[in-house]
Amino acid sequence: MRFAAFRRGGRDGLAAADDNGAFFGRFSGEPGYPGDLADLLARGPDALGEARTALLGGHPVDLDAEPLPPLPVGGRIICVGLNYADHSRETGLTAPTYPALFTRFASTLVGHGESLVRPAVSEQFDFEGELVAIIGTPGRHIAKADALDYVAGYSIFNDATVRDYQFKASQWTAGKNFDRTAAFGPVFVTADELPPGAKGLGITTTLNGTKVQDGNTDQMIFDVPTLVSVVSEILTIEPGDIIVTGTPAGVGMARTPPLWMKPGDVCEVAIEGIGRLRNPVKAEKAPVHA
Ligand code: MG
Repeated sequence: MRFAAFRRGGRDGLAAADDNGAFFGRFSGEPGYPGDLADLLARGPDALGEARTALLGGHPVDLDAEPLPPLPVGGRIICVGLNYADHSRETGLTAPTYPALFTRFASTLVGHGESLVRPAVSEQFDFEGELVAIIGTPGRHIAKADALDYVAGYSIFNDATVRDYQFKASQWTAGKNFDRTAAFGPVFVTADELPPGAKGLGITTTLNGTKVQDGNTDQMIFDVPTLVSVVSEILTIEPGDIIVTGTPAGVGMARTPPLWMKPGDVCEVAIEGIGRLRNPVKAEKAPVHA
């Protein structure tokens, strides 16, 4: 099953894909609206199928025109750095023996088609195409062998990073949390539609039509079951939490000369079997100092 959130005329709604891939949906508050995706994940395994049936009775939704991130992230956004060996090498940093976890705030997110915002204070705005695992079942201290039972589905992320701010200190929080610097979407694909752990999927990033990253999810150092298990040692994972699983080689900072995203560019991240996340880039208005 495939779901996507959208906004039209200031109203938010949820849509589901039919067997031909066309999306139909309903607005929040409209009869038959099943709730947003975070509500559905919290309600348990039958809720998604029932919601799909209700949404397919709604109106057509054009995801290129009206997308939002697939679920309103009220939970945790847990990201993994340096999780592909070739990317780890290109950064010059040591390959991790334990996942390099960091977090983002929901204020960093935009949906498919919305503009990523290059901050006024930096020109070092870099792309990172990534797979997202979306948690559907609460749990703590989950064994790796059971971990995929807790993953409801997958989506796509551009973990765009302000590089000079990332490395101003030993923590990455600054460089990863400028307003509207990450893209999430366009669709949520249930786990049963993909290989276990979303392994073996091609993942590419293109900037203005030129391929800049070309990897495969089977190149992850820590795969999805390992990440779920590791994160669940730290905190109780909850439906709607997302794990952003790291980027393959090819990022702009590792190039000579460096390749930064600039206003007017278009960045696309595609993952086989999931879809394509496309975002233009615009400049933040220059700050006005009193
Ligand atoms: Mg990343």
